Amino acid sequence: MLRNDMLDQWDREHFFHPSTHLAQHARGETPNRIVAGGKGVFIEDRDGNKLLDAFAGLYCVNAGYGRLEIAEAIAEQAKELAYYHAYVGHGTEASITLAKMVLERAPKGMSKVYFGLGGSDANETNVKLVWYYNNILGRPEKKKIISRWRGYHGSGLVTGSLTGLELFHKKFDLPLDRILHTEAPYYYRRPDAAMSEADFVAHCVSELEKLIAREGADTIAAFIGEPVLGTGGIVPPPAGYWEAIQKVLQKHDILLIADEVVTGFGRLGTMMGSDHYGLKPDIITIAKGLTSAYAPLSGSIVGDKVWKVLEQGTDENGPIGHGWTYSAHPIGAAAGIANLKLIDSLGLVANAGETGGYLNKAMKDVLGGQDHVGDVRGEGMLVALEFVADRQKRAFFDPSKKVGPSVAAALLKRGVIARAMPQGDILGFAPPLCLTRAEADQIVSATAEAVKEVL
Ligand code: PLP
Repeated sequence: MLRNDMLDQWDREHFFHPSTHLAQHARGETPNRIVAGGKGVFIEDRDGNKLLDAFAGLYCVNAGYGRLEIAEAIAEQAKELAYYHAYVGHGTEASITLAKMVLERAPKGMSKVYFGLGGSDANETNVKLVWYYNNILGRPEKKKIISRWRGYHGSGLVTGSLTGLELFHKKFDLPLDRILHTEAPYYYRRPDAAMSEADFVAHCVSELEKLIAREGADTIAAFIGEPVLGTGGIVPPPAGYWEAIQKVLQKHDILLIADEVVTGFGRLGTMMGSDHYGLKPDIITIAKGLTSAYAPLSGSIVGDKVWKVLEQGTDENGPIGHGWTYSAHPIGAAAGIANLKLIDSLGLVANAGETGGYLNKAMKDVLGGQDHVGDVRGEGMLVALEFVADRQKRAFFDPSKKVGPSVAAALLKRGVIARAMPQGDILGFAPPLCLTRAEADQIVSATAEAVKEVL
């Protein structure tokens, strides 16, 4: 086994890490962690630390670490047939079976699933499908996509543009044309403290209507949104938000893309986030929880209405010019099948609702009233704490204080991993869906101590 100090040196010399302060890392100013193993909700690093991973990697290891059922399915598939492509009608037992299983778990009215590798490429696929759709329908002007500020949809060119967080735009010349942003359903940060939830929903609707009127409904193809905003701060929408937004979209013949990369396959306590909020999407993005990250795999679930037009398009124009070498990779598909079976057999969707509800309540009970904890919010197995300099005024801390990262660091010292979300002093929790109540208690008590230490 290579020595830790050698790995550390090689890492700093050779490894280009995503979402990292590259200069500080190369200079050795920020700590490294070499992760070596995992079981259940815990990971172990090469320094011998056992840490409760209350963010499930990047909210993706939904079934928990060390699941031999998934590992063995991957090994079996690799031994039998590691790869074959899915172009022009090719498939494997694994990819075909998984497509069927995904459709059985999707909301009504969905037709087919296109498999990719990760959430970003799935959303790129979705935007291309929406543009193709409107070209086939003879509406070449209807191409713009509306996303929300604080939405997260990936970090490619189009998907980084859809993402409504400054960090992902800055110095990359994003967002691209054709991508627009509207108000986030972020009630805690409502423009006027006196607004009720219903007032705020009306405000979000009016902002959307204004944007559509300004641009012209005949130029707007689709609206993309996560059922619960994830990376933008773990923000469940206020009551009635999705119903009201969907009405506007229907009125203007605008497609709905539900980005369920985080919420798909159980995280909110329902199989899909769309079920939870009564969404009727035209396209659904899935990734992370599809394989619990045991292998890279994503999907675009296409609804009947769009699918019919795609078929018409290929009758008129020949085969669809879209596909990746690794679309429907058999190893990813085998992981997906084993993962979805495990989610069912362990009752993880129900557990996400029950234990997630317990975690949310405990976090509110213990931390809700505290001085610098402005908001405790969440849904299912998603929780966020938002720290403020002044609760009454909902005043931000000076960003140079880095309050979110400091609390995350204090929590890490106590053996629990949470995520300082990229915008604002928000600490996010998204544990594996197999979390127990005892583990939830451990997260809450360590968080209470960490908050006390920093604030
Ligand atoms: N969509 C959502 C809602 C996400 O949270 C993410 C990643 O966190 C993505 C898309 C992008 O997925 P990936 O990082 O697999 O490209």
